[in-house]
Amino acid sequence: STINYQEIAKELNGIETTTNSDRLTKLSLDYYHFSPILTEQLQNKRGELAAFPTTEAEVLKIALICVKYKIPLTVRGAGTGNYGQCIPLEGGIILDTSKMNQIQWLKPGIACVQPGVKMAAFDKQARKIGWELRIAPSTYRTATIGGFIGGGSVGMGSVNYGQISDRGNLRRVRLVTLEETPQVLELEGDRVQKVLHAYGTTGIITELEIPLAPAYPWQEIIVTFDDFMTAASFGQALSDSHGIVKKLVSIHASPIPSYFPALKNYIPQGKHCALLMVSEYDITPFQDLVQEYQGEITYSKTAAEAAKGTSLLEFTWNHTTLHARSVDNKLTYLQTFYFTLERLEKLYQQRGDEIMIHLEFLRAGDKAVPAGLQLIRFTTGERLNEIIRDRESQGAFIANPHVYTIEDGGNKQVDPQKVAFKQQVDPYGLLNPGKMRGFRE
Ligand code: FAD
Repeated sequence: STINYQEIAKELNGIETTTNSDRLTKLSLDYYHFSPILTEQLQNKRGELAAFPTTEAEVLKIALICVKYKIPLTVRGAGTGNYGQCIPLEGGIILDTSKMNQIQWLKPGIACVQPGVKMAAFDKQARKIGWELRIAPSTYRTATIGGFIGGGSVGMGSVNYGQISDRGNLRRVRLVTLEETPQVLELEGDRVQKVLHAYGTTGIITELEIPLAPAYPWQEIIVTFDDFMTAASFGQALSDSHGIVKKLVSIHASPIPSYFPALKNYIPQGKHCALLMVSEYDITPFQDLVQEYQGEITYSKTAAEAAKGTSLLEFTWNHTTLHARSVDNKLTYLQTFYFTLERLEKLYQQRGDEIMIHLEFLRAGDKAVPAGLQLIRFTTGERLNEIIRDRESQGAFIANPHVYTIEDGGNKQVDPQKVAFKQQVDPYGLLNPGKMRGFRE
């Protein structure tokens, strides 16, 4: 490009920046490599300067310069997204939020944070007053709250609270625009949808107000089963048992547990398992439920014991894919909603040896439903699309993780509200260009 980024760095004086090429390479990538298709499409995309603002005023200063020189700007939290969400397709500036890591205030039930606050670090503070995040991804230890709102969707806690886009899970955001004269906007209520899962294409979030959940001491438990559908039915029953407080209900069909060497002493070969987080206070009724489904508890750690090692969370959601790929890098995944056990059973029976199923239950409307990131033995892109079409024709919903635009993934269609909002706040199309298909069209 014709822009001299050394000069830009000077103009940004007072704000930490880097043009070091090794650092830029790291700051330009995410976990897109879980997808063989995205790997091909995105591997050489790089930003040209990274900036590390600490305040909203510094974000505004960066925004002004981007508008002045028409420089693309891609926001980055921890960079753990899976669809190239924070990969700068057209270079430019990477705005890294890791130094915007202050909790502004914290009260019972609600908190206000800067976007770069890491989720586990936040919970450590919130738990001191008996509260925690409602929903958090399996990348909880490293991911940022702003990144989860900008690019995530579900995680532990979703069995109670659903998806982050469900009404009420985000109360208010402040954001910086890339208008001719950048400004700060606040969105509340349904208007927060304009930035939710928008990949940073509709403004730079500088502050978030998030409702919290009561914190319990979470017992971490593994239950094994001889039969997968019994394990799945147990998962449904636990998710539906309102008297048993839980945070994670994840069911893994054999041979998936064989990809978890760290758990091999607890899951005999050929068994199916449930990886769970249940309130320590509800263990007795929980054991009764396990007995009803003829499961066997093989691992049970109190919250205090679990805190000393790797949480079972880090074997669920897309961490399952991470572990499976470290054994066999031909494996990839598809995000799938089955909605009912009947549909799940039909698809489970047709899986062949190309597909392996694990479930994470989540609340959708008034029900807890089975969903999960099925593992796929990748052969070709055509075959992958065939699997997607086949599953969809049988009533499953697939959020395709092998695409990098917002619309082609989970949303499935252009959201006219998001597009109109982008036209207002980013008229030059500088924010994460190429990710919102509806804007270009
Ligand atoms: P980043 O990857 O840095 O950013 C994500 C998107 O948000 C980008 O498009 C970025 O531009 C945008 N963004 C970041 N900050 C801002 C801001 N301040 N303003 C505007 N836009 C912003 N996701 C789930 O939902 N649930 C899971 O359980 C889950 N498990 C995962 C497991 C593994 C092994 C991996 C690799 C990923 C997983 N993910 C999951 C995806 C990802 O980790 C989460 O969505 C995570 O919350 C992203 O946070 P981050 O800070 O890394 O965001």
